[in-house]
Amino acid sequence: MPESIPPQIAALRDKTQAFIEDILVPLERTWDEAADQQDIRRRVVDASNEAGFFTMTQPVAYSGKDTSAMALTVVRETLAAANLRVSAHVFAPSAGVLGSATGKLQTHYLDPLMRGEKRGSFGFTEPDSAPRPTWAVQEADEIVITGQKSYVTGGAEADFVAALVNIESSGDDTGGTAMVIVDFDAPGVTVERVFRSLDGSGHTAVRFDEVRVPKWHIVGGIGEGMSRALDDISKIRLALAANACGIMLWATQYVTEYIQSPHRSGTPLGDREGVRLRYADLRIETFAARSMLYRTARLVDSNANDVNEVMCTKVFCTEAAGRVVDAAVQLAGGDALTEGHPLERLYRQVRAMRFTEGASDVLRLNVAKGALELSKGVL
Ligand SMILES: Cc1cc2nc3c(=O)[nH]c(=O)nc-3n(C[C@H](O)[C@H](O)[C@H](O)COP(=O)(O)OP(=O)(O)OC[C@H]3O[C@@H](n4cnc5c(N)ncnc54)[C@H](O)[C@@H]3O)c2cc1C
Repeated sequence: MPESIPPQIAALRDKTQAFIEDILVPLERTWDEAADQQDIRRRVVDASNEAGFFTMTQPVAYSGKDTSAMALTVVRETLAAANLRVSAHVFAPSAGVLGSATGKLQTHYLDPLMRGEKRGSFGFTEPDSAPRPTWAVQEADEIVITGQKSYVTGGAEADFVAALVNIESSGDDTGGTAMVIVDFDAPGVTVERVFRSLDGSGHTAVRFDEVRVPKWHIVGGIGEGMSRALDDISKIRLALAANACGIMLWATQYVTEYIQSPHRSGTPLGDREGVRLRYADLRIETFAARSMLYRTARLVDSNANDVNEVMCTKVFCTEAAGRVVDAAVQLAGGDALTEGHPLERLYRQVRAMRFTEGASDVLRLNVAKGALELSKGVL
């Protein structure tokens, strides 16, 4: 539970709060009027580096820390509960599926990624119109990739995409899924569409037409693609749940103050029983979600099989955040839907969370499969 965390994690939470108040809040105030938002980003990165947050999500070999799931959960939740746009730059880009890369993959991709010289992206989702999932044939030292990825976040600014590819067997070479690093400037790669989603994030749709890629671009081995993609996804799902809980904390606090403040009717909204019922729901949802989040973070740190529990937590916390922010908008009235209102931004943000890293109902089916066919999952 959030109130029974070890002393060093509680100290980390307090340090994060102090960082928010001393560094992030003043920078957030300058965000809208800033002539150069890039400069604010740099200042967040520098301050985060100095305070020791920046590399928390990076591998130890890259001056990162062996950060526990609980520590990351606490920092992410605390940051999200401040509801500041500048918080997006507190953490360095994570290594993603390249985390354990060695040899040329390390020197050509992971190292420059960690130094901030290259940007990566992740290609998993495919369009419904695709004739078959992205595939590749093997030819000596190369694979030749054909297919499409429809929702690559950050693709427009990225140098490469880590794409899930089904590699066909050939002679003695076995086939299977693999995560493959594909450069955006490789011949045969076409960015078909650049678009923005409701939450404000930017994406691309990409097509591969017989793209030749050296075999050393395969992360790990052929056959490991799905498990490598899912390993990373599990970490991001827990991060999303922590963000969702932080958002719920912020929205609940906002409503607490709002319904106690003067209202044009003459009495604060919080004096009305009907409003109190809705308000209580915010607290119940937030309490339940945080209880689940912290239990799951502990489970992850115990090295137990946690795939099902992380999925349960991602689904519940992101859906609860949707309900809480929706109710907060309702209680705050029409003002909350004005462009630029913090609740308006959160409303858009939480909607996207039920899709990213696995749509809710698809994860539900996986939870059921985990229990019924694989005997996995605790209650
Ligand atoms: C902000 C944002 C960022 C994203 N970033 C990335 C990224 O970087 N890389 C990437 O690869 N993808 C990314 N995605 C895509 C995301 O992973 C997909 O939107 C998500 O997995 C759902 O896939 P889909 O959109 O193809 O919907 P579909 O798979 O077509 O599903 C649509 C809906 O149908 C229902 N449904 C589908 N299948 C089933 C089933 N078997 N049983 C029951 N119901 C079902 C669900 O309600 C589901 O929401 C991003 C999405 C968003 C919104």
